[in-house]
Amino acid sequence: MNSTTQFNRKTLPDIGRDQESVLSELRQLKSSDMDWKSGRVPLYVFGATDSLTEFGKAAFMEFFSENALGARRAFPSVQHMEREVIEIALDLFHAPPGAAGFMTTGGTESITLAVQTCRNWSRRTRGDLTAPLNIVACETVHPAFDKAAALMDLQVRRVPAGPDFRADVAAMDLAIDGSTIMLVGSAPCFPFGVIDPVSELGELAQRRSLWLHVDACVGGYLAPFARALGRPVAEFDFGVPGVSSISADLHKFGFCPKPASTVFYRSADLAEHHPFEFDDWPNGRYATTTLVGTRPAGGVAAAWAVMHHLGREGYLEIAHNLLTFMDKYKSDINSIEGLSVLGDPQLSIAAFGSDVLDVYALAEKMQQRGWLPGLVRKPRAIHRMMSMLHARSHDAFMSDLRAAMSELSRNPQSVSGLQATY
Ligand SMILES: *Cc1c(COP(=O)(O)O)cnc(C)c1O
Repeated sequence: MNSTTQFNRKTLPDIGRDQESVLSELRQLKSSDMDWKSGRVPLYVFGATDSLTEFGKAAFMEFFSENALGARRAFPSVQHMEREVIEIALDLFHAPPGAAGFMTTGGTESITLAVQTCRNWSRRTRGDLTAPLNIVACETVHPAFDKAAALMDLQVRRVPAGPDFRADVAAMDLAIDGSTIMLVGSAPCFPFGVIDPVSELGELAQRRSLWLHVDACVGGYLAPFARALGRPVAEFDFGVPGVSSISADLHKFGFCPKPASTVFYRSADLAEHHPFEFDDWPNGRYATTTLVGTRPAGGVAAAWAVMHHLGREGYLEIAHNLLTFMDKYKSDINSIEGLSVLGDPQLSIAAFGSDVLDVYALAEKMQQRGWLPGLVRKPRAIHRMMSMLHARSHDAFMSDLRAAMSELSRNPQSVSGLQATY
């Protein structure tokens, strides 16, 4: 008796099938997925143009088998590309000489490493610390900080945002105590797409002698170009005194294939606490700058290739197109009576709420029309993180939204039981 009959569990087929038939079933499986290509999924997948996506994929495939774990010893090409990606980004983020950075496989990994580096640095430089150590952050920061804190037995103190949904710096100041090791602001935050007042956070960090991490995972590779286009995007990077570290995802608005993210430190003194080194086992020295060991070199190669293909001009053009689309999206939402965009989002995320109806009921109606809802809980809002994939279906989205609004206006008291999920 095999385990299928025993446990009703899928088992390895005794005899394999030909490749074409397996691939065709695999493609068939996709048919039950949401149609992300036409912008019906409000997060997870980003894109600028189809040709850029294909180019990133081609570059990735050139290094499909290589392992970035072995970059130092076996694949100097991968080490070279990683170093160039980091140098380019340090320049974009106005890093002073001596600053350093590392590529990782995602925002969560970049954040976890920054928290660990801060924890290690704090232990080394501050003899007075008593556990549990804590991180003081705006309530809008990404759960990756809590995930990192759970790994390292730290606490995250989430401080309510101000009425503009940005970090309340005075309230954060009050939450600091002798066990605080890190302050966190976002550029922008995921829930509302607004940029925390990084300059004021930098002043606070300097006054209290604390490490300030700026989580630019979602906006890091868009904000510099938005600023260059003259958009009112506040300074968020190493140009702000007091910023110790920055996380920024290439696989979001750097328009690079997954997995690719980056983490940076203002100085070599801080960065020195980042690498992991171990020597006490039969195979000798094991040193990494990531949490993961084996890591796809394709992510490194594709990021390098996308940066070199686009150049400053290419990124500026994408930023111009995307932000022009966002302007239209925000003004179209605000033009619907009863709906309004929350706060003043300047990049690619916006959430909108309503003072006349339950927006979750509206989201439910949009879901029935094939749009996966993104939801914010406090205040109740519909959330979308958008790239040019969403521009394609803007008219369809707006007309479905208007239709859903007028349906609801006949039953304005309806309340939805939808739950917000990332
Ligand atoms: C996406 C995101 C992260 C986490 O990135 P992953 O690549 O999903 O691990 C962190 N912070 C912000 C603000 C994000 O939007």
